[in-house]
Order: sequence, then C-alpha cells, then structure tokens
Amino acid sequence: MRVCEQLKPKKVFEYFEDLCQIPHGSGNTREISNYCAAFAKSHGLRYIQDEDNNVIIFKDGSKGYEASEPVIIQGHLDMVCEKENGVDIDFEKDGLKLLIDGDFLKAEGTTLGGDDGIAVAYALAILDDDSLEHPPLEIVLTVDEEIGLLGAESIDLSMLKGKKLLNIDSEEEGIFLTSCAGGLGAVCELPVTRVEQEGVCYELKVTGLQGGHSGAEIHKERGNAIVLMGRVLQSLNGEVPFAIEELEGGLKDNAIPRETTAVIVLPSKEQEQELYARLDTLEQKLKKEYHTSDPDICIQCRKLGEGKKQVLHSSSATKALFFLRNMPNGIQHMSMDIEGLVETSLNAGIMKLSDQAFTVSFSVRSSVTSRKYELTDRLAFLIEFLGGSISVNGDYPAWEYKQESKIRNLMAEVYRDLFKKEAKFEAIHAGLECGILSGKIEDLDCISFGPDLMDIHTPKERLNISSAERVWNLIIEFLKRSQ
Ligand SMILES: [Zn+2]
Repeated sequence: MRVCEQLKPKKVFEYFEDLCQIPHGSGNTREISNYCAAFAKSHGLRYIQDEDNNVIIFKDGSKGYEASEPVIIQGHLDMVCEKENGVDIDFEKDGLKLLIDGDFLKAEGTTLGGDDGIAVAYALAILDDDSLEHPPLEIVLTVDEEIGLLGAESIDLSMLKGKKLLNIDSEEEGIFLTSCAGGLGAVCELPVTRVEQEGVCYELKVTGLQGGHSGAEIHKERGNAIVLMGRVLQSLNGEVPFAIEELEGGLKDNAIPRETTAVIVLPSKEQEQELYARLDTLEQKLKKEYHTSDPDICIQCRKLGEGKKQVLHSSSATKALFFLRNMPNGIQHMSMDIEGLVETSLNAGIMKLSDQAFTVSFSVRSSVTSRKYELTDRLAFLIEFLGGSISVNGDYPAWEYKQESKIRNLMAEVYRDLFKKEAKFEAIHAGLECGILSGKIEDLDCISFGPDLMDIHTPKERLNISSAERVWNLIIEFLKRSQ
C-alpha cells in the first residue's frame, strides 16, 4: 500500500512518491535523472540528458495549441539531505519513509525533498496526461541547485524555443517571485609568516549564535562569529599580549557562521586573570547587544596547557586582525524600489588559517550588478592594501525585475479567477536558478512559485497537500490559457 495512494492530484503524488524512493541528494542525481529519461522514453517524448544529469523533455502542444509559444517548466532534481539525530538512514542508498499528518506530507525524521521534488512530480504528471490543453512544453530539470546552482550553470539551453519560464521552486502559495539577487563568492587571502613562541595556550570560542542563510536572513541582525572573533581578539590588545596559533570557523560562505575558534598563546600565566576579565566584560556587552537576535551568545575560554607553538608573526597577526575589524559585512544597501528588500549585502562565511595564509570567504549579493562589483572592489582594495589577494568564484547574474511581463500578467489573472483573491509579487535577496537561466535565454520572461512547503532543508520539512492541489490547478489553467 502506497502512502500517497489517496492523495490528489493522483498522478502528482504518484510521481512524487516514486521520486522519494530514489536517493537524490545533491551530487547524487544519476538515478533520478535516469528515472526522468526513462519516463520520457517510455512516453515517446523527445529528451536530452546531459553528462551532468540535467534533463530536458519536450512535448508538442495539444490540439489547437500546436503553433502556440512554448512554455518552459523548470525545477531542480536534487534535494538537501538532513536528518534528525538518531535516524538510521543512508541518503546514498535508502528511500524516504513518507507519512501523512493531517493536511501535510512529511518524511519520517528527514527532509522530504518537496524542495524541489514537487516540481519534478508536477512536470511528469503534466507530460503524462494527454487530456490537458497546453502549448508546446519544454521541461527543464536541473541538478545540484542546492550546492550552488550548478546544473543551471552547466546546462545547454540553446535548443529551447520558449521564452516563458515557470520556475516551481518557491515555498509560499500565492507569492510569486519576480526578481532575485545576483551573487559571487570572494575569497580574500593574506600570506602569513609564523615564528616559534613558548607560552600558555588558550582556546577561545565565540559560540551560541543562531546563524542562518546569508541571503534570506542577512537582515535579521544575527551575530557573525567571524566578525565577532575579530572583536574578541582586539579587545585583548594592549593589556593581554597574545599570539595567534589557530583561527577558524564557518562552513559555507552562504551561511552566517555560528561558531569560531581561536587558539592564542600568552607568554606566561601572569596575564590569565586579565584575559578572563576582559573576555567576561566583552561577553556581558555582547549579551546585551545581541539579546534579541542571539540570546545564547557566549565567549568560551579553555586553558590547553603550556608549550612551544608556531604562532603568527606579529605583523601577520596585526594585518589579519585589521582585516577582520575593517572588512565590510552584512547589509550594505536596502532597495529604495521595493520596501523591505535587501539590495546589496555580503557575508563572511568561512575563516581559515594555515601555515602560509589567512583566508576569509565571502558571499556577496546584490540585485544591482554594478553594486555587486563595487563591493567586491572594496574587499579587493582592503586585502591588497594589506599585501594579500582576492579571487572570485561562482559569479551569477541577478534576475532583474521586468516592468513588462506577460507571464506575470497572465498568472495574476489566472490566480484571481481561480481563487478570488490577488496574487502577491515579490523579490528576494537570495539566488534562484531564474537568474542564471535569464542569462542564457535572451528576453526570458519568468516567474517563480510553488505550493506551501514549511521548514525546507530541515527534518521538519512538510508539504501542504491541499496547497499542492491548488497550485496544480493553477498551472493547468495557466497552460490552458497560453494558447
Ligand atoms: Zn529548491
């Protein structure tokens, strides 16, 4: 007995349940890609499967729609694999255990992959139904969206004829995204030298922070552990003569870092009381400053013992500290066109110290291309002034708001007619595949939407079942009116 057997739309949930049986975390998309290719083959549909596992499937327009302008339906094949502690699952091999809870579909103890499996299920269900009225369809299923929009980056779309794209990768029914920020990764690297020093070692930690997504949550004033470690170290300057042995924290440039660690060496135990006193004073200040955004913030200090260490030469340490204290971070500009939208920001996400170099990796975002580069130039000037260098990776374009959009107008009309209320059109400060795809298809008109999905990227992820049905009806009606 299949879990989704009774759910509607029947085909959508049938395909969705199939997809959930195929492991498809980012980087592990061969099998799900093959499944889609096999689907196309068995339904006599033309398809392209590229070496990165991206899939494109074509279907002619239905009767009367043969000559209509094609519509592209797009989503991503990969999912984020997260599980609750103690859940026994191998995301490389095992399928998900689905369960229905009221009006929600969930997976037991893991992410559901409704982001973005629901898009794939919709697409296959549409292709599978010959009774629907629709223009020629071009279904674009990309891989590895969740780890840097890689499939959208690598896929060749030159053979597509469509200029209208429905991206089904948003999580709030009734809210339609019409633009997103562009971004890039910037790695600032400072060469360092080390010297030997004898003394007492202490491990310092800035921890207890909330973290969050550097696009979606950069406006929440959450503490950045890398920035704060700079402040902690500078607060010791003068009274506590310390040398730096280790300095690291953060896992991804697009996540606000929740914890950083430094190992410092003091010449003797004499300064220990002063060290503790200073850290204590600063911790009290931070608790006050961050009592709303990060109430659990704390500075931990642990004595590691005595010994001879290879520490940063004082001039390297000063430069690293100068960088940490002066690097831009967080919101740089708010949009003056769309209320509440962050226009330009950056996030220091990863900090590392090796024997040769101190590096900080940033995620830079802006919906205004020139400001993305202007901000990168500032980082470059700062790090180069200190004798370091910058390298840029994963530069992707913004999806800019179109004053005139046929797809938006039609979507607004269909939504109003079906649900007797107005659709909301919004912009976000995070990257979407629409940005990259817009760079590949000239004059692309696109919109991003989807059914209600809660707590995506966490084991609490759940899909609202009735919302999935309403959004299905919306898509079907949209296609019907795209003659
Ligand atoms: Zn997604």
